[in-house]
Amino acid sequence: MSASQPIYLDYAATTPVDPAVADAMASCLREEGGRGNPSSQHLYGRRAAQRIETARAEVADLIGARPEEIVFTSGATESDNLAILGAARAGAERGRHVVSSRIEHKAGLDPCKRLEKEGFAVTLVPPARTGRIAPDAVAAALRADTTVVSIMWVNNETGVIQDVAAIGALCRERGVLFHTDAAQAVGKFPLEVRALPIDLMSFTAHKLYGPKGIGALYVRAGVRPWVLPLTFGGGQEHGMRPGTLPTHQIVGFGAACVRARRALEREGEAQRVMSLRERLWGQLRTLEGALLNGEGAPRVPGILNVSFEGVEGESLLHGLSELALSSGSACNSASAEPSYVLRALGRDRELAQSSLRLSLGRFTREAEIDAAAAAIRREVRRLRALSPASDTPIGGGESGAQVLGEAGGPGREVWIRFRLQVRGGIVHDASYRVYGCPHTLAVAAWLAGHVRGRRRDTLIPGAPSEWARALDVPVEKLGRLLTLEDALRECQRRWPAV
Ligand SMILES: *Cc1c(COP(=O)(O)O)cnc(C)c1O
Repeated sequence: MSASQPIYLDYAATTPVDPAVADAMASCLREEGGRGNPSSQHLYGRRAAQRIETARAEVADLIGARPEEIVFTSGATESDNLAILGAARAGAERGRHVVSSRIEHKAGLDPCKRLEKEGFAVTLVPPARTGRIAPDAVAAALRADTTVVSIMWVNNETGVIQDVAAIGALCRERGVLFHTDAAQAVGKFPLEVRALPIDLMSFTAHKLYGPKGIGALYVRAGVRPWVLPLTFGGGQEHGMRPGTLPTHQIVGFGAACVRARRALEREGEAQRVMSLRERLWGQLRTLEGALLNGEGAPRVPGILNVSFEGVEGESLLHGLSELALSSGSACNSASAEPSYVLRALGRDRELAQSSLRLSLGRFTREAEIDAAAAAIRREVRRLRALSPASDTPIGGGESGAQVLGEAGGPGREVWIRFRLQVRGGIVHDASYRVYGCPHTLAVAAWLAGHVRGRRRDTLIPGAPSEWARALDVPVEKLGRLLTLEDALRECQRRWPAV
């Protein structure tokens, strides 16, 4: 694998479009299916409508729904918005309280925030350390005025599967609508939505080898009146989601669902992905301080989320450019919280930051897993060896004095230790150990080069703002460079008397 062709381990972000799906879409666009508006009464329109209804049945079939229970949307984000906002607003006369969880996708959390602005109360249930939401915790959050509960089926970061059957059952008992975001569940294991106490379910084509920009909201028969639309227009999709239906997108979605169903029936495919994931974990777990996120909870086969102790997340990701994956680090921002999902599971900032989400799928091969594991092991070891944590202070240099200057520390965003060999009043040699983001690492290396040959009073080469300019460090990271400067000042204070 070359750097220009990174190994794709980001199936939870989006899956590659299956070639058979792309073919189905292309032929739909080329043929008459691409011509008519499915709402038109002439032949072209009726043909487009026919294709859409065929695809609707394929989509419904994958989840065990009736075709008339499928509302096409632009994806899971829109489906979540429609379900949560639509159901809460429709029920506002009966109550203005919504229950969700702290580990939902932003597509579920942000509509809840929106509802708060509209005067609704929202309770976000915390997960257990395993990442599972206890049905009892959901039950405890229900109030007399609760109208909607929204709990995701499978978490997109950890792959942890929630007990939607139990959660849905207690909602039904209380007459509360239950919505689940199933973007990471549909196509991953067999599911029959009608056999479960689920009223509304979001999913999306691009997480199951279909195209981006098309998804669906399952709306159980009879539930439609309890969901207000977000947009208004030509009345398509029973008025729940008006607008000309995108025939080729829907045909692609249907084709992806047919293939997903076949893959699930083979069963071997889920097994294959699971054993690849276990192979990967087998090669990572032997690294000391590799912690599996979601351990002890049921998880989907394709997602592995691991935190690495003592490794800075952004540097880890930076060093893994041959892999296409996601991490829990909030790259390039000084303030943003790293992965709120892992924080909710009780991981500290550092461990949430140093996590990698490796997600596998239909086109993942064993050789890719082995190459990825080797790259991660190499990078984790390299960063740990560079960190002051692994430093064993040794006695002074041959004939000079050794000056140590340290700043930051364990658990901080920067930890730096400079070690200068001073002879005849000048720096003869300089080495360093550093933990931090890629910019911090680059400036530390640059400084270690620049202090050579300097005296005590000229030790520090200019101001941190100048280093930032020289090495293209974003302003929000200037504070980290101040820590590097502190360590050099410490060296000046400890300068040996001649
Ligand atoms: C990907 C994803 C979404 C967003 O889906 P889009 O189709 O991209 O809008 C929502 N929820 C979960 C759990 C997801 O994984």
